[in-house]
Amino acid sequence: MSEEHRPQPDVSMQSLRRLLIIFLLVIGCAVVLVNGWVVYSIWQRIVNETQNDAHNLSQSLSRQSEDTLLPVELTLQDLRDRITLVGLDAERQNYLRTLLMERKASLPQLHGLFVYDSAGNWVLTSQGMLNQHSNNADRAYFKYHQQHNDPGLHIDEVIRSRSTGDLVIPLSMRLNNRDGTFRGVLLATLRIDYFRQIFSYYNLGDKGLLALMTHTGDILYVRPFADNLLNRNIANSPLFTHLLKASSSGTANYKAALDGVERLFGYASLKRYPLVVTVGYDKQQLVQEWLTELVVYLTLCVLLLLVIAALGWLLLRNIAYTIRDQKELAQARDRLTAMNHTLQTLALVDSLTGLANRRQFDLYLDRSLERAAKLRTPLALLMIDVDSFKRFNDTYGHLAGDECLKYVGHALQGIHHRPDDLFARYGGEEFAVILGDCGQEAALKLAEKIRVTVAALAIPHRNSESEAKVVTISIGLHVMSGDRQEDRQTLIGQADKALYSAKARGRNRVEVQ
Ligand code: GH3
Ligand code: MG
Ligand code: MG
Repeated sequence: MSEEHRPQPDVSMQSLRRLLIIFLLVIGCAVVLVNGWVVYSIWQRIVNETQNDAHNLSQSLSRQSEDTLLPVELTLQDLRDRITLVGLDAERQNYLRTLLMERKASLPQLHGLFVYDSAGNWVLTSQGMLNQHSNNADRAYFKYHQQHNDPGLHIDEVIRSRSTGDLVIPLSMRLNNRDGTFRGVLLATLRIDYFRQIFSYYNLGDKGLLALMTHTGDILYVRPFADNLLNRNIANSPLFTHLLKASSSGTANYKAALDGVERLFGYASLKRYPLVVTVGYDKQQLVQEWLTELVVYLTLCVLLLLVIAALGWLLLRNIAYTIRDQKELAQARDRLTAMNHTLQTLALVDSLTGLANRRQFDLYLDRSLERAAKLRTPLALLMIDVDSFKRFNDTYGHLAGDECLKYVGHALQGIHHRPDDLFARYGGEEFAVILGDCGQEAALKLAEKIRVTVAALAIPHRNSESEAKVVTISIGLHVMSGDRQEDRQTLIGQADKALYSAKARGRNRVEVQ
């Protein structure tokens, strides 16, 4: 397998690592999103439930308030009818006073029942004793009846009773003479404490708001605030500016006009009277309840995320280790491959001349013989020996001898030849050339070319036998013809014989055997 096609071991690990990071991010985001949605749903549930509670409670309290007012209204109607019937003369007053006292006693919400003449003087009260100089002509409800010939029940702002000092809500009706002129006022006062009592049954938390108001925005009762807020007008509250105009009951979230605290409100108008009840739950308190509910849940979610992150981190670390190990393994393998390559080269190449060494020569000769036998082609072998080299060493030294062999080796390498021809250092100052599928003529030509090339190097050799006093070589050539099989000993032996013959015939020549 070629180098570029070898698979990169860490590529799949890298992509696995990328995939794992994406997977962990997706899982983390999914956990956060799902939990965010759950947390938001819990908040929505709390808000909806609270708004429902507020709405139901406001409706229930509005009915309760109606149940409180209706008997009072009926009582006032009955008293008015009787007064119209029997008049207010002195002889009737005992009867009427007793009636007032009985009615007052039968209705626990009542603070008192009063009858005023057209000048505002007290005529009768359910308390029995008359406060001689009392006059209520200054009261707003009195003035209202003076000016309005309206037979219905009138509910006015909270006042402090002149008879007892209690805070009361005045419910009044106009008394008419037979001719329709103003005769006086019939008044029932409702104890604020009564509302305080029935409204106190409901626990709305520290800042939960409960209020009874007129449709014009006057506060008749409100908790948890001090009594100085009674009669405060909050007509600019969203309840009066648009909510009540849209529906007689419902829910809404807004900041209470009284203290600026944001609440979840439920409101319900009384059907029979121009009053409205509102119930408001403190939003901040709900948020706290919500958080309390979420603490365990969120803790578990954070733990889950931490476990996912820790597992992911462990996996990524393992992958990082694996990638590192694989890289080290790949590097070690590359180093080994390079070393093998070097070793193979070293094992087959002669270090001094760069030619094939003896080992490679032996292997190649065997392969060439097999090939020649199989294809029945000729095979030529040249044995080359440097002439009088012992003398060269003796003359110039061993190191110079090595240099000389290097030059000769490079010269042999530089000779143009076919790729299948092998030039080798056979040993010492001997070289060999294997020429596969090469006839005698071509081999002889190449041998001659080699001989001339080396002589042309003109390496000085003053003790040489050659005329030019340069280094020369002798070559023995033997060609095995294609139709004759020889073994390697015979082949080498014949080439050697030719070489000896060249030496014997005066060196610097080629001989054929
Ligand atoms: P001729 O071949 O012409 O008959 O004479 P010669 O002097 O070359 O004779 P021979 O082949 O007997 O001597 C070979 C000499 O080559 C002997 C040895 O000192 C020298 N020799 C062999 N290998 C090396 C080598 O690697 N380096 C050096 N410097 N000398 C070598
Ligand atoms: Mg020799
Ligand atoms: Mg020699």
